[in-house]
Amino acid sequence: MRSTTKPTVAIIGAGFAGIGMAIRLKQAGYPVTVFEREADLGGVWRDNTYPGAACDIPSHLYSFSFEPKPDWTRRYATQPEILDYLRHCVHKYGLGAHIRFGTGIATAEFDEQRGHWRLTTEGGETIEIDALVSACGQLRIPALPDLLGRDTFAGPAFHTARWDHRQDLTGKRVGVIGTGATAVQVVPALVDSVHELRLFQRTPPYLVPRPDRAYPAWQRRLFARFPLLQKLGRAKLFAQHEARVLGFGYAPRMLRVSEVLFRRRLRRQVPDPDRRAALTPDYRIGCKRVLVSSDFHPAMNRANLALVTDSVREIVPEGVRTDDGRVHELDVLVYATGFRTQDFLTPMRVLGRGGRDLDEEWRDGARAHLGITVPGFPNFFLLYGPNTNLGHNSIIYMIESQIAYVLDALQRLHTRRLRYLDVRVPALREFDEHVQRRLRNTVFSTGCDSWYIADNGRNANNWPSSVLAYRRLTRSLDPAEYEHAR
Ligand code: NAP
Repeated sequence: MRSTTKPTVAIIGAGFAGIGMAIRLKQAGYPVTVFEREADLGGVWRDNTYPGAACDIPSHLYSFSFEPKPDWTRRYATQPEILDYLRHCVHKYGLGAHIRFGTGIATAEFDEQRGHWRLTTEGGETIEIDALVSACGQLRIPALPDLLGRDTFAGPAFHTARWDHRQDLTGKRVGVIGTGATAVQVVPALVDSVHELRLFQRTPPYLVPRPDRAYPAWQRRLFARFPLLQKLGRAKLFAQHEARVLGFGYAPRMLRVSEVLFRRRLRRQVPDPDRRAALTPDYRIGCKRVLVSSDFHPAMNRANLALVTDSVREIVPEGVRTDDGRVHELDVLVYATGFRTQDFLTPMRVLGRGGRDLDEEWRDGARAHLGITVPGFPNFFLLYGPNTNLGHNSIIYMIESQIAYVLDALQRLHTRRLRYLDVRVPALREFDEHVQRRLRNTVFSTGCDSWYIADNGRNANNWPSSVLAYRRLTRSLDPAEYEHAR
């Protein structure tokens, strides 16, 4: 039986989710340590410093409900302001001393007899804790395409999530591979300063306008003075985003209207019919992530921008050779090619009861009950885990649901002095079958390649329903779904 003291908790990752979890744990009186491999906090908001990096969810919605920020300077905050917000949270809630930077966890091994996790850091130190929370996210490891000759390029080449700020791109010939959420931010930010920008597009994206604007000082003061006004604003944003689940999650055909509106905007923004045709997707809007930008399509008209739609065949010292045999000569090559979204915990090794290896358990795709717990891996919780990504609303809302669920589990562990809580196999099976069945009717399954769908056809990333439905499911831990060990 566990002692009467509160369980010790380790969180892996000091990004949005890890910081939110640590705040809540500290407030609830749990001894908590956050292990962060890098030297700074912020997760994706630390890593993605490319020109134009910003959030495509409005800031008042993309922030913790318990820590509203009345003075967001813009409707869509840029990367530095979001990183500052996270620093502010760490400072305000006194988390500094709880974060161990430069400490990657190599292995986590569960000791069933004692109900402990034994962590081994990449430096070889071992640490014992009672509960483990992974807050590693889904968009952490840059994906570099497996292109022939990738290392032969003579100039600087880097991924957008590892932007090389030593390189001055002014007046250079720059190639950008990819047209996802990152590329549509980076291309308009670069196009005016470079000599020539070659954009290598494999699949054209759908875009919706980004009604960005600066908040005037009076409005920020108003929000600070009357928090209820800010709350109402957030509720309105929430409702607007949540309503989109009808098309995304239940009736993808409804989204045809959005496709018509997209084509109408494209006609207005790109006069050249050939270029317009190249920019017109042939799949349902929402199947891939819908991108939010008002300046990407206008940038396509710039005289110094070349949209290349021939496939990239190989990288050569001078640049990129496309399938038509042409070599596109470049000074700098930027990979806006996304992330390894199926590698939820890589390279950490997680060993559960009886030494079972989580990588093995997940060889056909990651799955977790409510996206949070995995049978055989007691006292282990995932934030922003499998099947909890969204196409329609703020991920912070999902993360807060998960944080509350983890707190509920820890409370149970503590008050009942349990050695461990282990989710039962049928609970996961039922949840997983439900999610996969529901996903079949969503827009994500309407037949396109996206980072949501693994090579085996399984969608291990997305949540198929509303975030309110998810909150209902995660409101409290159902004891019948868990083995309680004393
Ligand atoms: P992404 O959406 O996965 O896009 C990667 C792009 O690279 C795609 O256009 C892909 O083409 C292309 N690509 C990959 N390999 C290629 C190859 N060999 N040849 C040519 N093109 C290739 O990655 P991302 O843009 O970094 O965005 C990832 C996610 O991060 C987003 O969906 C979003 O969730 C998040 N994000 C959010 C924000 C925000 O504002 N909140 C900003 C940036 C990113 P295909 O489409 O043909 O595969």
